Amino acid sequence: MQQYPKIPKLSAINQDVVELLYSNVFNGLLITLLSVSAITFGFDSGEAQQTKQNIWLVILVFTLIRAMDAAYWHSKLKNTRYSPEAPFYRFFVGSIFTAILWAVFGISFFDSMTTLEFASTMIIMSAMAGGAATVLAPNMVLVLTYATIMLIPMSLRAIYDYRDEYNMLGFLGILFWISMCGAASRANLFIRRAIEIKHKNDELVELMVKEQNEVTRINKQLLDTNHQLDLANNSLEKEVLRRTKEIHRLSNRDPLTGLMNRTAFMQHFEWMIEQACQGNKRLAILFIDLDGFKQINDSFGHQAGDAVLASVAEQLKQYCESDCAGRWGGDEFVLVLPYADEETALAIGQAARGSITSLQHIADNDVTIGATIGIAIYPKHSKDAATLVQLADLTMYYNKRTKPGVVGVFSESIYDQLNEELRLRDGLRHAIDRHEFHVVYQPIIDAKTQKIWAVEALARWQFNEEWISPGVFIPLAEKSGMIQDIGSWVLNRACIDTAQWPDDSLAVSVNVSVLQLLNENFIRQVDQAIGSSGLAPHRLHLEVTESIFADDMAILTDRITALKARHINIAIDDFGTGFSSLSLLQALDFDLLKIDRTFVQQITDGNDTIVRATLLMAKEFGCRTVAEGIETPQQAAILKAMGVDCLQGYLFAKPLEKNALLKWYTDQH
Ligand code: C2E
Ligand code: MG
Ligand code: MG
Repeated sequence: MQQYPKIPKLSAINQDVVELLYSNVFNGLLITLLSVSAITFGFDSGEAQQTKQNIWLVILVFTLIRAMDAAYWHSKLKNTRYSPEAPFYRFFVGSIFTAILWAVFGISFFDSMTTLEFASTMIIMSAMAGGAATVLAPNMVLVLTYATIMLIPMSLRAIYDYRDEYNMLGFLGILFWISMCGAASRANLFIRRAIEIKHKNDELVELMVKEQNEVTRINKQLLDTNHQLDLANNSLEKEVLRRTKEIHRLSNRDPLTGLMNRTAFMQHFEWMIEQACQGNKRLAILFIDLDGFKQINDSFGHQAGDAVLASVAEQLKQYCESDCAGRWGGDEFVLVLPYADEETALAIGQAARGSITSLQHIADNDVTIGATIGIAIYPKHSKDAATLVQLADLTMYYNKRTKPGVVGVFSESIYDQLNEELRLRDGLRHAIDRHEFHVVYQPIIDAKTQKIWAVEALARWQFNEEWISPGVFIPLAEKSGMIQDIGSWVLNRACIDTAQWPDDSLAVSVNVSVLQLLNENFIRQVDQAIGSSGLAPHRLHLEVTESIFADDMAILTDRITALKARHINIAIDDFGTGFSSLSLLQALDFDLLKIDRTFVQQITDGNDTIVRATLLMAKEFGCRTVAEGIETPQQAAILKAMGVDCLQGYLFAKPLEKNALLKWYTDQH
């Protein structure tokens, strides 16, 4: 509870008292001057007139001094904080001295006054004292002293006078003094209360101001805190946003290349298709697959492979907006080209492919890399994102098989061919069970004796009344993993048929896919085929292509060594079309080199360099040679003259069914 000051003492001197006294002083001084002037100049006192005027002059001068003091207070002290004692005492002295002058004035001229003058003087002095009862009431000592000096001497003088009317006026003066003291006392109490209330008010105002200031301060603090909270919130929001973005980026980006991963790309691609649909616009999707990436990984290690992928991604970014490229997986990338038609997509695809193939030096290695690209266009080829990617992928896949390194746009014919492939793959799955496979045999003739030396077993597949070429179904079987079963079936069939051949000098040459060789069951399959058919192992030749040199050489060396240990002959088929390793050729001790048909066909045009080189090499390695695809006697004559050991081709016989072969053989001998 706030403590307020008690009512000031009767005689209290404080700034409020001084203020009340000085605020009315000019009126008081003016009334004093007018009153004293009226008495001085309104009544002629004869000889005493001059003295009277001198006293008037003293009162005038003194009144002027008090007026100056009051003016000083008004101009300098009012509304400031000052020590109240000095101005109060100046005022006190001024008032009391004025009262004394009045009293002296009244007493001095009492005897020379007429009754009227005396009565007038008494009335004026009473009026002055009466006025003082309120004007000087702020200080009780002052008001009582003033009233007493003003009224008591004159009243007592009048009471002691010999005239009755003077006595009466004297008593009236005393009575007036008494009532005036009472009035002054009440006025003083009232003023003190007023001061007290003013103080309380001031205190309250001060308190209010303080509280207002406190509220303002707290408000400011709140504002500051709010501001700081806002700032913290903002930076927190920013941080959350940044982290969300980072998480989004990490979960949407492929860490190696910084491109979108497959999921993020598909989401974005679907959105782009919606945009294209709304704007009635085209867009193209490019499916990019690197050529030769596996070799880089195998030859230079995964770090080099990673560096290649990262720099391919960098190259690709140059051809589209940052959110239009993605890594589909492995060495596959996807690009979206908004607004692009076929020509634009082809041009950009070519340029992107060009910049990928120009990458030559990566992670301290000189690398050769290519890319095959398939393109699909929205809305021409499909309106569905997943289908568009699938079509671009199919186109790339088709191009890769038919013409690697090409940039091509999807077409119905690609779709038909791939559909056909799917149909065949499906058919291939049941081909053995449905007895759709056959084996035909093509004789291989000894160049010197012109007699049959061996036969090559070639698989045939009759699917829905249609003969499917091994050039078509063998790669499909390799891709779908069915080559193991098909190869094993052909091997068994060939061994059985050959074992039943009337002449036990005839050998059979069976084509073996490198995937079969890599299979850990392969040797067991061969043993089983030989064992169950009863064919002497040396009558079995296995043909492998040069592609084995690109695969896991440790396994392949093991397999070939195991086969050689069983006296099975090993032939390198289509020699000269792939990449052979000379050191491995020597180490693995092959028995036969089969010169590919393409070189045989060139021989009549005088292009015999490869055949000569092959013969030379075979001689050095101690291998026999077989020339394939001989169609004319001229080709046969040249090859024979060059020293080829064996000849094979339509000139002698086409691949024949077992019975037809037997007939052919019988006819020959
Ligand atoms: P290849 O092993 O080089 O077989 C020779 C191919 O040349 C055979 O084609 C044969 O019919 C053909 N040919 C033979 N002489 C001539 C000729 O004078 N002129 C022409 N134009 N062609 C001739 P085919 O039977 O279509 O076999 C193609 C390829 O399919 C084979 O090439 C072989 O790599 C593969 N293949 C066939 N059967 C099998 C098999 O059972 N297993 C595996 N892994 N591959 C097989
Ligand atoms: Mg062959
Ligand atoms: Mg061949």
